[in-house]
Amino acid sequence: MAITTDLSGKTAVITGSNSGIGLGIARELARAGADVVLNSFTDTATDHALADDIAQSFGVSARYIRADMSNGSDCRALIAEAGACDILVNNAGIQHVAAIDDFPVEKWDAIIAINLSSAFHTTAAALPMMRKAGWGRVINIASAHGLTASPYKSAYVAAKHGIVGLTKVTALECAGQSITANAICPGYVLTPLVEAQIPDQMKTHNMDRDTVVREVMLARQPSKDFATVEQLGGTAVFLCSDAGAQITGTTISVDGGWTAL
Ligand code: NAD
Repeated sequence: MAITTDLSGKTAVITGSNSGIGLGIARELARAGADVVLNSFTDTATDHALADDIAQSFGVSARYIRADMSNGSDCRALIAEAGACDILVNNAGIQHVAAIDDFPVEKWDAIIAINLSSAFHTTAAALPMMRKAGWGRVINIASAHGLTASPYKSAYVAAKHGIVGLTKVTALECAGQSITANAICPGYVLTPLVEAQIPDQMKTHNMDRDTVVREVMLARQPSKDFATVEQLGGTAVFLCSDAGAQITGTTISVDGGWTAL
């Protein structure tokens, strides 16, 4: 059978997709023909304009639905309001950098809720729809930090290791049902989340921007290049294609060699 990457007729819900990787993935899924639902916790004209632009650019249906991924009921309501969810991309995420003994409890709770628990809630709501449709793809955006650790990122590393575990359980519970679950593990991708870390890193290491990017942030990325949101979108499209039908319960690193070190 010829392998197809045509996603026409499929609906993709991408959490945290009004910027960065989520938006990049939404655009590539739409380019492949999927209808898309964008999401974040805000509800601005700019948010809705992003969906309009995708609809116009790729000739698909695109909507923006506000839902706060730190709230379990909102997570489930997002999937219900989407009405269909053949492809679920759990992407929403935040970061905070501090030593464990100084780590603010509210930051720990928010990171675990947004980066990990939201995926449990959306997956729980989406699986019945996928089973009814007889096809599904769950794609969890983990991180190189889902496979390795760095100091001062306790909550993030814990959440990302957690989502890799959740991915494996989801895959096993859906095995044989034409529903796969995988985690994409990016290294450094230049997005607002990473941009926001640069001033902190400059302060911590007392370095200028270029030096901190090359020697600190990309120190563990042997390619010395950031990954792009389009490359992550392309990886998601691959997992949704027929080529991905037997890829399940695993991680795909898009990290310039980080986890090979
Ligand atoms: P980003 O800040 O550009 O995007 C994060 C998205 O999550 C935004 O759309 C934001 O609005 C949304 N979000 C935050 N809190 C939310 C909430 N409570 N409810 C709903 N949406 C919320 O950052 P990004 O780099 O694109 O990160 C996307 C994902 O990729 C995250 O899970 C992040 O951990 C992961 N990741 C990023 C990198 C990187 O280098 N950028 C590397 C590895 C993994």
